[in-house]
Amino acid sequence: MIYAQEIYKSFGNLAVLKGVNLTVAKSEVVAIIGSSGSGKSTLLRCLNHLEQIDCGNIMIENEWMVKNNNINQAVYQPEREIKRICTKMGMVFQHFNLFPHMTVLQNIIEAPMIVKKMKRDEIVPLARELLSKVGLLNKEDVYPSQLSGGQKQRVAIARALAMQPDIMLFDEPTSALDPELTGEVLKTMHQLAEDKMTMVIVTHEMGFAREVADTVLFMDKGIIVESGPAKSLFDNPQNQRTQEFLSSMF
Ligand code: ATP
Ligand code: MG
Repeated sequence: MIYAQEIYKSFGNLAVLKGVNLTVAKSEVVAIIGSSGSGKSTLLRCLNHLEQIDCGNIMIENEWMVKNNNINQAVYQPEREIKRICTKMGMVFQHFNLFPHMTVLQNIIEAPMIVKKMKRDEIVPLARELLSKVGLLNKEDVYPSQLSGGQKQRVAIARALAMQPDIMLFDEPTSALDPELTGEVLKTMHQLAEDKMTMVIVTHEMGFAREVADTVLFMDKGIIVESGPAKSLFDNPQNQRTQEFLSSMF
């Protein structure tokens, strides 16, 4: 569960998030769409503390990560608490960021062993289960350079899942892929949604968002200008900017 309230974030003089509100219920799939530079990646990065917000409140799985004080400045929990809260979220980026010098299996087991202190013989069976889930069981001993982009991205998803997160955040996971490799990654994400994973997905794949997301948010210039059930937002957008954006996509 994510509950983010009145999030503000600037880089120097550039105000990027201007009062964003976001609620993601358990097992809900939320897609965020919007034009380049509207603040979608920044919002995801604020949710898992890759960026610090200036003002606002964020609650993850019923715990406050950051909350305004009485003069409206965001005050974070102590670093150790933040780290613990952030392990509840897995993130998958546009570029896969796999460790090039490690095999697929090593990539997946590294963080659970180091961060969660799991034993190798506990995590290896889980890693194999996840590889099977993403359709790559036969690739555990190969290095990332020997994989296609779609396979790398599926390893990145398995790696994030190996931390057993409650929430998965995806930032345009297919936009660096050739069209013929996009489908296999979207299929993996579709499966995750069916398994009732809570997900926030920034995407340009409108067909996927319409089919898989429960709720779609349209972001423009640092504000969520419209949100609603996927089908009604796509079929009957109310806001003029949403209408213009969608007509430019189709
Ligand atoms: P895209 O669809 O192209 O990925 P986006 O909606 O994800 O766009 P962001 O990456 O969140 O947009 O960027 C929003 C704005 O914030 C942009 O103007 C960007 O240049 C700026 N920005 C993002 N990160 C930083 C940073 N670390 N320092 C300065 N400016 C930044
Ligand atoms: Mg982005």
